[in-house]
Amino acid sequence: SSNMAKSKFEYVRNFETDDTCLRNCYIVVRLDGRNFHKFTEQHKFAKPNDNRALGLMSRSARSVMEELEDIVIAYGQSDEFSFVFKRTSTWFKRRASKLMTHVASHFDGRVVLYPSNRNLKDYLSWRQADCHVNNLYNTVFWTLVQKGGLTTAQAEERLKGTLAADKNEILFSEFNINYNTEPAVLKKGTTLIWEKRDETVTKCMKLPNAEEKEMTVTRSRRRVQAHHCDVIGEQFWEEHPDILED
Ligand code: ATP
Ligand code: ATP
Ligand code: MG
Ligand code: MG
Ligand code: MG
Ligand code: MG
Ligand code: MG
Repeated sequence: SSNMAKSKFEYVRNFETDDTCLRNCYIVVRLDGRNFHKFTEQHKFAKPNDNRALGLMSRSARSVMEELEDIVIAYGQSDEFSFVFKRTSTWFKRRASKLMTHVASHFDGRVVLYPSNRNLKDYLSWRQADCHVNNLYNTVFWTLVQKGGLTTAQAEERLKGTLAADKNEILFSEFNINYNTEPAVLKKGTTLIWEKRDETVTKCMKLPNAEEKEMTVTRSRRRVQAHHCDVIGEQFWEEHPDILED
């Protein structure tokens, strides 16, 4: 380190707390848009779900995942995205604030450690359950406002104390909307994972003392793939056994 670092002022470094993440845990960094409720109004988002915004979130998360190789799965819904670092990651010596700030920009964030596969699956299930509950509520709420002519206050009053079944019933009997046929991206959120794809490219080969030749080359490439599927049941994990470590 520099001469500055060795000055009499160096002791202030000891005021920093050690935020090294416990070894052998999955490290989850969850980002959530700050005051997004207001942001969506200022930017006139379509309610309850602006698909351009969801697409932008997903595209941004994909860039983060492509940039930070130790991320094994990412899950997003609404204005939030969770990024899961592999258990064995040694990136930035597992320092929580380093990991979080490298993932984050205009988002609040937190770092949480999950020691077991069960804990991590439950974490993602928790976020997806949150997605479902909120999206069902928001879908009925905004349908009551946009198609039912209620004020936002009236819609809120109407939905007080209603269960999921009641909300499905309002949508179906009053507005002829079957919640089950709503887009999966809204009901399930977005899960990003690495997938191997065989890619075939045609290459123009020119060997010395030979004529040009068209050749097809097949190579396996890792690509970030988006899914809008259920991650609460075991099926997703059975179909993608490489994400989690034993
Ligand atoms: P920590 O990760 O704990 O914050 P650090 O990496 O910030 O540690 P520092 O002691 O702050 O460690 O050192 C920063 C490093 O970056 C030093 O090696 C320094 O020489 C280098 N560095 C910073 N700014 C420049 C610059 N403009 N040009 C070249 N090197 C730089
Ligand atoms: P905080 O700063 O506490 O997170 P917030 O206003 O961001 O406050 P959240 O609980 O994070 O509150 O809720 C996110 C808000 O953004 C909700 O009102 C949600 O409806 C809205 N929102 C998120 N994504 C979209 C979208 N794609 N289209 C329309 N509205 C959205
Ligand atoms: Mg420095
Ligand atoms: Mg928010
Ligand atoms: Mg949120
Ligand atoms: Mg530094
Ligand atoms: Mg530094």
